[in-house]
Amino acid sequence: MSALLEVSGVTKSFDGFKAIDNLSLSVNEPELRAIIGPNGAGKTTFMDLVTGKTRPDSGTIRYGELSRDLTAMSEAQIARAGIGRKFQKPTVFEDQTVLENLTMALAAPRNPLNVLLRRPDRSARAAAVAEEVGLEKDLNKRAGILSHGQKQWLEIGMLLAQEPRLLLVDEPAAGMTTAERERTTAMLVEAAKTRAVVVIEHDMEFVRRLKCRVTVLHEGRSLAEGSLDHVCADPRVIDVYLGR
Ligand code: ADP
Repeated sequence: MSALLEVSGVTKSFDGFKAIDNLSLSVNEPELRAIIGPNGAGKTTFMDLVTGKTRPDSGTIRYGELSRDLTAMSEAQIARAGIGRKFQKPTVFEDQTVLENLTMALAAPRNPLNVLLRRPDRSARAAAVAEEVGLEKDLNKRAGILSHGQKQWLEIGMLLAQEPRLLLVDEPAAGMTTAERERTTAMLVEAAKTRAVVVIEHDMEFVRRLKCRVTVLHEGRSLAEGSLDHVCADPRVIDVYLGR
C-alpha cells in the first residue's frame, strides 16, 4: 500500500471565498475512502480539483509513482492517467443496451485497454464487467428501462471498464432502495481491493457499511480523519456536522 494521490496545502477560492482552504489529504492504492461533510464543505470542489476541472490557487496535487503534478495536466490527460469520476446523476446511453454501453466504454480513447482488445475480446470483457456490477442477466436490456440503481451500477461498470487506478464517486447511494445500497456497498468494497476509490457521501449508514477510513471536510479543511466511529466521537465533528 502506498500513496497514489497526494494533495498538499491546496487552496481554491471563488470570489475571495475559500472553498478549499490549505487542504492536505492523501489516498493510498488500494484504498476505499469516504469524504463526508456538510453542504458547502468543499467536497465537489475537491473532486473538481483532482480531475482538473478546476485549478488550485496554490498547493500541489501529485499522483502515481512518478508524482505527476495533476495541476499541470489537462482534464483529458488526467482521465488518461487513470482517474475516473462518477457524477451523482447516471449518464448512460439510454437507447443502447447494457452490453453496448459497456463495449463503448471499453473502446473509449482514454481506456488503456482499447488498443489491446480486439472486438470479440471487448464483448467478453464487457460481459465480465457486467458481472462485477451485477448486470450479467441484463446484458441485452436497453439501459433506458433499467432501475435508477441499475443505471448507477452500469455507469460504475463503464468506469471500471476503463481500468481506473483512482475512481471518484459522488453520492452513489442517493435515491437507492436499501437492497440497492447493499449491493452498491459490496461493489465499491470489491472495486477498492485493487484500486483507490474515493466516495463522497451524505448517508452515514451507507458510510458505516463501507467500513473504511473517513475524512471529514469542513469549510474546505480536513477536520478529522479515521474510522467513522473515531471521527463521529470528535467534538469538532459533533459541533459542525452532526449538530448534537
Ligand atoms: P460540497 O460539495 O461539499 O457541498 P462545494 O465544493 O460544492 O461543496 O462548494 C464549496 C463552496 O464553494 C460553497 O460555498 C460553494 O458555494 C462554493 N463554490 C463552489 N464552486 C463555485 C463556483 N464555481 N463559483 C463560486 N462559488 C463556488
